[in-house]
Amino acid sequence: MDSATTLVSKIKGYNPDVNCGVVSSAYEFARKAHHGQLRASGDPYITHPLQVADILADMRLDQASIITALLHDVVEDTGVTLDTITDEFSDEVARLVDGVTKLTRIEMQSDNKQAENFRKLVLAMSEDIRVLIVKLADRTHNMRTIDYIDSQEKRERIAQETLSIFAPLAERIGISHFQHELEDRAFAVINPGARSSIISRIDNLTSASENTVRRIRGELLKVLEEQGLEAEISGRQKTPYSIWRKMQRQKVEMEDLADIMAFRIVVEDEAECYRALGILHRNFKVVMGRFKDYISTPKRNRYQSLHTGVIGPLKKKIEIQIRTPEMHEIAERGVAAHWRYKEKGAPAQPEEKSQMKWLNDLVNILENAHSPDEFLEHTQMEMYADQVFCFTPKGALIALPKDSTTVDFAYAVHTDVGNNCVAAKINGKTRQLATPLRNGDQVEIMTSKSTQPNPEWENFVKTGRAKSMIRRFIRQQKQQEFSRLGKALLKKTFREEKRQLDTSKLLPALAHFNASSDEELFARVGENLIDPDDVFNQVFPNAKPQPKKKPAPSSRRKPSLNIKGLIPGMAVHIGKCCHPLPGERIIGIITTGKGLTVHRVDCQNLEKFNTMPELWVDIEWGRDQPNIVTARLEAVLTNRPGSLASVTTQISQNQGNITNLQLVSREEDFFKFFIEVEVNHVRHMTAIIATLRANEAVESVERAKT
Ligand code: MN
Repeated sequence: MDSATTLVSKIKGYNPDVNCGVVSSAYEFARKAHHGQLRASGDPYITHPLQVADILADMRLDQASIITALLHDVVEDTGVTLDTITDEFSDEVARLVDGVTKLTRIEMQSDNKQAENFRKLVLAMSEDIRVLIVKLADRTHNMRTIDYIDSQEKRERIAQETLSIFAPLAERIGISHFQHELEDRAFAVINPGARSSIISRIDNLTSASENTVRRIRGELLKVLEEQGLEAEISGRQKTPYSIWRKMQRQKVEMEDLADIMAFRIVVEDEAECYRALGILHRNFKVVMGRFKDYISTPKRNRYQSLHTGVIGPLKKKIEIQIRTPEMHEIAERGVAAHWRYKEKGAPAQPEEKSQMKWLNDLVNILENAHSPDEFLEHTQMEMYADQVFCFTPKGALIALPKDSTTVDFAYAVHTDVGNNCVAAKINGKTRQLATPLRNGDQVEIMTSKSTQPNPEWENFVKTGRAKSMIRRFIRQQKQQEFSRLGKALLKKTFREEKRQLDTSKLLPALAHFNASSDEELFARVGENLIDPDDVFNQVFPNAKPQPKKKPAPSSRRKPSLNIKGLIPGMAVHIGKCCHPLPGERIIGIITTGKGLTVHRVDCQNLEKFNTMPELWVDIEWGRDQPNIVTARLEAVLTNRPGSLASVTTQISQNQGNITNLQLVSREEDFFKFFIEVEVNHVRHMTAIIATLRANEAVESVERAKT
């Protein structure tokens, strides 16, 4: 392939509709753009995109894929912009070139230790499967020319990356010729000794058994024909790399034909596949554990075939694959089969289908998966569709849930990085901390020792880790503040009694108040949960006449509500302003002398506390035990005998316990009531409201505004 003319005529061979002018001008465009650039081989650079296009033409791919192959390096390696490509060619081509360019950038960051994540990243970024196909063709040509690269270290790095990332991707989308070529070329770089010894062993075995192979093939054909089955049988040699991998995995030697050769039987349709299988199993002894039905249970890449092993003709152990021509096409081409040029007369592909996103396609494939392995694979697919993969400046890959922000990223790197982050750069540009991350972003977090987590971050972070770290930090901060305040209060009390606060003498008080440390005792004093005088009396029991009698602090009561995030020993009240219910997001406000008041996060009253963040406590309803909380309803009933009775009956039938009933107003036809009813969840309340609304006696009912 030395010119565009050869390429164009090859495409014309399978696609008479091809626009030769556009393909030629794409070639000219690329040639000019790469003018003066050379490959490591010394060839003009244009030879590379031309060869990549040629690989795709051999696969009979569509025109857009081939033009993309010709242009695939111009954005990354020359001054050409995507806008120019849009203008000169089309949106479709520009989009595909953009996709390949992004993959090329990712490629440069790859890290073999995180190969699985990289494979996911590449898949997640290849929104159109053709992007990945062009990239695989690109990699294939680069592997074909890898010997021109001088540095052995660089060759090995590229080969390793090919083995760990690109060959598995080719396998995953079912393009087996890419997979095998990439594996074999990488194998030749990484372990040339092992490869050549396997090849010579294969050569020995095949030449010794050339005759055997022909006779086995003839016997198999005869057995099938006797039953009236028409079949094509070929001997398929396993690749050196697949043999090597098997030898490594199973610690076996290659001994005979079965280790290097499989026979492939192609028959008309699916029913004949099973018929052929039956005939073989009746005529030859079956090797146990070799039968696999990938027709009823296709592999995740849509591969279908029957596999079996028999002691075949000449008493040789052989492996056999049975499939139809369609299955064969899928086995060889995988998803690339979708992008083949369709000949005229073939049913027209609906636009939508031809624009099909490859991911949907793969998900469909996976939905047909039955085995645990495939199911696992499926789950992983779904997982990474919800993930975003980003890089640290040093190139480490961080996987996060979709829509994660720079703060999530910072906490994923390290707790201290999260706690001290002040700003972030994404791909070199300064961005707000709340900015959602996209696949492939490189994120640099700026930190400052004097910064602390901002409670507002909790509103936008996505990861549980970031959330819990932010909450924990804020809680600790609050504890420290209370502790300082409590210590100051105690000092003052002790001073008034002409004593020194000596922390070595606090033990009796710690024991009495069941506090585990001085800090905890101080914090509880600071929160007004323990009276400083009581601490004094514990430390100096005889120092003072009876203290002035005070009402017992309400804090002594144990919270009867099951709420997470409370500070131990603190009294809890449900806000009368908003009546929060389990299932709703809540926040606690420390109220002097009362402990903690629980509000709904959207309660109007919270505005009053905006300037006093130190009073806010992050809490949530516990889920391990039910909470019984009062809901307040406003109901308008028709003025008719039995109205109210029907309402109270319905509420109790719904397991609601009425604790208060208050007549608000009375008109000629209607009563208006406030009804307080104990419920266990906001859903419990809405269920009660829904039941009441169906009651004829009820004009209206809703949650009370106040
Ligand atoms: Mn390239």
